[in-house]
Amino acid sequence: MNEAELLFTEILNCDRLTLYEGRRTHFKKDKSAFVAWALKRRIRGEPLQYILGKTEFMGLEFKVDKDVMLPRPETEILVEKVIKIVQSSQSGVQSILDLGTGSGCIAISLAKFLPNTNITATDISESAIEIARQNAIINNVKIKFLCSNLFNNYELRTTNYELIISNPPYIPSDEIATLQPEIKFEPRMALDGGREGLDFYHKIIAQAQDYLKEEGLLILEIGFNQREPVKKLFQRSRCFKVTEVIKDYNNRDRVVVARKVEKDG
Ligand code: GLN
Repeated sequence: MNEAELLFTEILNCDRLTLYEGRRTHFKKDKSAFVAWALKRRIRGEPLQYILGKTEFMGLEFKVDKDVMLPRPETEILVEKVIKIVQSSQSGVQSILDLGTGSGCIAISLAKFLPNTNITATDISESAIEIARQNAIINNVKIKFLCSNLFNNYELRTTNYELIISNPPYIPSDEIATLQPEIKFEPRMALDGGREGLDFYHKIIAQAQDYLKEEGLLILEIGFNQREPVKKLFQRSRCFKVTEVIKDYNNRDRVVVARKVEKDG
């Protein structure tokens, strides 16, 4: 739905079709105050998802607020890839770790589509974890949430995962100010990937092997121009072999899949 449709289906409490049939054209006075308030915020650049307090990802509803990054449609590519991998796996994938879960969109949609997996989701932000918990309840799934700066929560050591996935912050610090004004409403720490945007790939790739089972996979979303530097980080670690790079709907590199291998040499 476009933004006008999203706003008016919300206000009139109807679906898109009913909106166009014009069967509901009136709303009460209190709603008109809401429209004015919502439009004022939108004009100032705030994304409509924050104004409505919710968004959609993988066909599911997620609550969002200023403490979490808005789920992006490109991230569905990562989720769809993980679903395919798990469904075609012979060994039966049981445990998945989602680093930096934010709204919980990745972990929760995986739990919904892969009911036989155990999913752990972490975030450095307590307020993000709180939103993600609520989203797990809304979507009726069970997930283990941990507040953790990447791998530093000791509890993560108790499991070795078949899959570790992450959509880490990957925008170079200096670029953030040049992006569309809506971005300023999102938590900076969910976007800022350091000078070159690669800080989190450095850290995740350096540590992930200790938390993966043999031949486990590390699957990362990347920025459109980060394929080569991220591949290099994997090569240098000598613990991973990149098996696939997947493009998004705009034909841009978006997801890297790497397999844990025996350290050579
Ligand atoms: N995992 C969440 C998402 O993909 C949050 C990512 C982030 O905050 N960098 O939307």
